[in-house]
Amino acid sequence: MPTTMNAARLHAVGTNFSIDRIEIPEPGPNDVLVKVRACGIIPNMKNVMAHYAEWFPFLPLPPLPAIYGLDASGDVVAVGSKVKSISTGQRVYVNPGTSCGSCHACRCGQPINCDAYTFLGYFGFGPRSETVFKDYPYAGFAEYMTAPASSLVKLPDSVSYEAAARTGYLGTAYSALRKAGARSGQSVVISGATGTLGLGAVILALAMGVTKIFAVARNRELLERVRALSPKRIEVLSAGSEPLGDWVRRHTDGLGADIFIDAVGPGAPHSLSLAGIDSLRRGGRMVDIGGMSEPLPLEMFRLMCFQISVIGSLWFDVSEGEEMMRMADAGTLDLSLFEHLAFPLNRIEEALEAVDNRVGGFTNVVVIHE
Ligand SMILES: [Zn+2]
Repeated sequence: MPTTMNAARLHAVGTNFSIDRIEIPEPGPNDVLVKVRACGIIPNMKNVMAHYAEWFPFLPLPPLPAIYGLDASGDVVAVGSKVKSISTGQRVYVNPGTSCGSCHACRCGQPINCDAYTFLGYFGFGPRSETVFKDYPYAGFAEYMTAPASSLVKLPDSVSYEAAARTGYLGTAYSALRKAGARSGQSVVISGATGTLGLGAVILALAMGVTKIFAVARNRELLERVRALSPKRIEVLSAGSEPLGDWVRRHTDGLGADIFIDAVGPGAPHSLSLAGIDSLRRGGRMVDIGGMSEPLPLEMFRLMCFQISVIGSLWFDVSEGEEMMRMADAGTLDLSLFEHLAFPLNRIEEALEAVDNRVGGFTNVVVIHE
């Protein structure tokens, strides 16, 4: 076992990563040490590194020099003295969503509602996140990282490290669909369906048996690729070519959709979200996972009368991660559509560029450690 490793670290906001040689950490009693094999680069990573301090001063960032890297997969190479049910050699995805373990929400089994909830290698959601970053300063852009054993999602042999490095965005979509009660026989509108998050919602909805998927996006060529995933169950609409609500009702006997998943990113106009809500049937549910930044003018009287729910959903938990891995292993969740674009750690800046130039959600940009 080596004692030092390479880690891409950010030393100052607005600069590039530098590849530094640092000590490999020891896992704490309830933690594991993972040799990272692949780490996804999510489209928002550059924003977090360069702009979040200014845009969202209430979201703590990892202290500098910082190791980033959100979606890591790899092998457990050491376990803490109190870890009983995870052994070395286990292939895992590390859920970076880390909670304090002892606050009201954590004790009640709702780790994502913890006020210290923190994405390792990304950012945190409250002042107490600083304590989490202190305990877990490592992440996927380093060759090794520590993590609580309770954060691990076991990987079946059939899921590659590269595909597993996509779990964060897939899990976000899965958790949203679960909160909306998605199941066989239902219809789901997915806005932003060709993007990283939206495509995840499409394949999870297929895996969950959703009968009709209404995929909305701008790029017609990519929309056709989405439709080809399941031509009988997926209808596609190029955004703006027809009012969304009219189109959905035309395909649902005039009713409207059961669920609307809003996966469009923060910069989009709120008219897209309002059109999605307008496409819902009475009793329908809208779940936002894209993080619209423009405030929505909601007609509460209409939402009340039609019993329409508007739900915010953040990330996913380990149980949802394990369920997805079982679905992938059984073949109900098809991860074969991703085209992996892999870069070694010393070419991480190229990888960040590649994310900007990717062709929709089909491309999966990852950093790999040999
Ligand atoms: Zn907590």
